[in-house]
Amino acid sequence: MDLGLRGKKALVTGGTRGVGRGIVRALAEAGVDVLTCYRQESEAVASLENELKETGGAHHVVRADIAYPEDVTALIEHARTEYGHLDLVVNNAGAISHIPYESLSLEEWRRIVDTNLTGSHLVVQKSLPLLDAGSSVISIGSKAVDAGIPLRSHYTATKAAIAGLNRSLAKEFGGRGIRFNIVALGVVETENLYALPEDQQKLMIERYSAKTALGRLGTPDEVAGAILWLASDLARYVTGATISVDGGIS
Ligand code: NDP
Repeated sequence: MDLGLRGKKALVTGGTRGVGRGIVRALAEAGVDVLTCYRQESEAVASLENELKETGGAHHVVRADIAYPEDVTALIEHARTEYGHLDLVVNNAGAISHIPYESLSLEEWRRIVDTNLTGSHLVVQKSLPLLDAGSSVISIGSKAVDAGIPLRSHYTATKAAIAGLNRSLAKEFGGRGIRFNIVALGVVETENLYALPEDQQKLMIERYSAKTALGRLGTPDEVAGAILWLASDLARYVTGATISVDGGIS
């Protein structure tokens, strides 16, 4: 199905691994030119670059840590120089850690807030001059905001804050024709899951699959499906929304 995305320009943060990588690949396959970033050098960078070369299109994979305002400035400047404008911004890069609230240090609180909340805010604010009517901003949220999740209080606080930011920006920029939405994920299989020891992997898959209506975890491709729809003209009247892609988790 042609979603009419060919030739559009997108920025996806954190696209070298996990959910972001699935989104980058799906957009590239739909004919979108994609700029994405990562935080640290890894084998994933070169392998994504190779995959994108095979897909074709004007794609760029650059190092930019969104927790650092100067990196975000350079990232958006890259978008401006290469594309001149953006049709889609996907706030995907995110950090998480598992820490009991009573021993959560201020340093770790700030690390998670700086990446997930301040980083997303900076990406959106600095992208605005490149966004015209018809463009769209999507942030990756989490079902953990509704459910609550032990040891992730700092993480869920940032994802809840992004929901407020999203709704306010939808209202502030609706008049300019810019849409803001959230795709809230359940548990998605990524390299991080498969990096766990086999017994822990099995436990995670069983525990979280049992919480879903569909009886299984999600995949980055399935998240990408919602992104393609939200980015397309099919979703032109959808803004300020949170779309759950979670297999019916509760
Ligand atoms: P991964 O850890 O698998 O991948 C994260 C990607 O983002 C990597 O490419 C990483 O690059 C990049 N990244 C991380 N921090 C930064 C940063 N500060 N600046 C730039 N790039 C960065 O994460 P997931 O794919 O699991 O998660 C993606 C998003 O989805 C996050 O917002 C997360 O909160 C959300 N989410 C994920 C769920 C899941 O089950 N996977 C569930 C609910 C929400 P590098 O390799 O350099 O570190």
